Amino acid sequence: MTASAQTELLGLDIQELTALVQAAGEPEYRARQVFEAIYRQRVVAIERISTLPLELRRTLAARTLSVGTPRIEKQYVSADGTIRYLLAFSDDQSVETVWMPEGDGSEEEVPSSEYPVPSESRTSFIASQLVTRTSVLATQRATICVSSQVGCAVDCQFCLTALLGLRRNLTAGEIVGQVIAVLNDRAVTVDRDRINLVFMGQGEPFLNYENFMKAVRLLVEGVGIAEARMTVSTAGIVPRIRDFGEEPMRPKLAISLNASSDAGRRELMPITRKWGMEQLMAAARDFPLRPRERLTFEYVLLDQVNDSLQSARELVELIRGIRSKVNLIALNPGPGIAFATPADDRVLAFQQVLIKAGIPTFIRRPRGRDIYAACGQLKLSA
Ligand code: SAH
Repeated sequence: MTASAQTELLGLDIQELTALVQAAGEPEYRARQVFEAIYRQRVVAIERISTLPLELRRTLAARTLSVGTPRIEKQYVSADGTIRYLLAFSDDQSVETVWMPEGDGSEEEVPSSEYPVPSESRTSFIASQLVTRTSVLATQRATICVSSQVGCAVDCQFCLTALLGLRRNLTAGEIVGQVIAVLNDRAVTVDRDRINLVFMGQGEPFLNYENFMKAVRLLVEGVGIAEARMTVSTAGIVPRIRDFGEEPMRPKLAISLNASSDAGRRELMPITRKWGMEQLMAAARDFPLRPRERLTFEYVLLDQVNDSLQSARELVELIRGIRSKVNLIALNPGPGIAFATPADDRVLAFQQVLIKAGIPTFIRRPRGRDIYAACGQLKLSA
């Protein structure tokens, strides 16, 4: 999208902002000031860009309707401190973005005593305590789960977002805007707090590749979150996995494998008919990892479907030789999903097979299940 056609500032890079201020008869350095204001300081109104002369703020406001920060339409608070935001854009389409305090549940190993989910019967009093805005001095640690599309076209059989179908792609500005809206709401200081981003919300990031990658660059260069703190998850869009490996600046990669054979994966993820398991694993094998980097394989465990010890052994063979780790996710159930969540002992037994084969394997703790914020539970309606 060209700068002149866009009505919102978020999503414009420094070149596009330069064109914009020059068109307004202003010197080039004004572009840098706007860039700093909308991404670094995260101002939500053009009138508040204090480094610009008033006159220019008026001109910009006349040319571009707004900064474009999405509106928080609703927010739901979980007993575990997770917050699910429903964020609305200028055309009133909305997506969900999730704030998960203290880690993303993917890096840390969960001791068996903590699994399954802590009781959901905790009172909302505790929930409100957990999310009370922390004092200005305390460091916040959290992961934000970001959406890349409104709905999704991929049609994974266990995922609620799939039931929506694809409504539309998000622009780069809308992807960045989700992060900014949540950072503002949680009063985050990016230099002080430890914020991770996972592109694992609604949508398939690699089917909206250009906008997604532009958003990544704006988040790194503008907002100030390092790409090493970001992970993108794909259902297996093989050509884009290969493109992604060539990017000079990129998040870490996670591949949603979810099955240990081509036939099994076809049943669960119809996208496998387009790019088969063999092609997918070849792209995974060829993926140029940075020093010490590991590829992540995600595996949603479905009771009696893909969670047998035999499946675990097949999975070991499939990923042998790839510097990787595995995140196991016991199915988060939902209406219209024809699968069941395996019992804890099945999940642990599956994990043991992988660990014994030398594969670092983590069980992803479900976050915010009580507010429908967990993996695969994001949908449009409240
Ligand atoms: N389209 C991308 C990112 C969104 S899904 C992808 O497919 O990777 C993020 C993760 O949630 C994926 O690993 C997906 O397999 C998992 N997931 C989807 N539905 C789920 C459910 N009902 N329970 C648990 N995990 C689910």
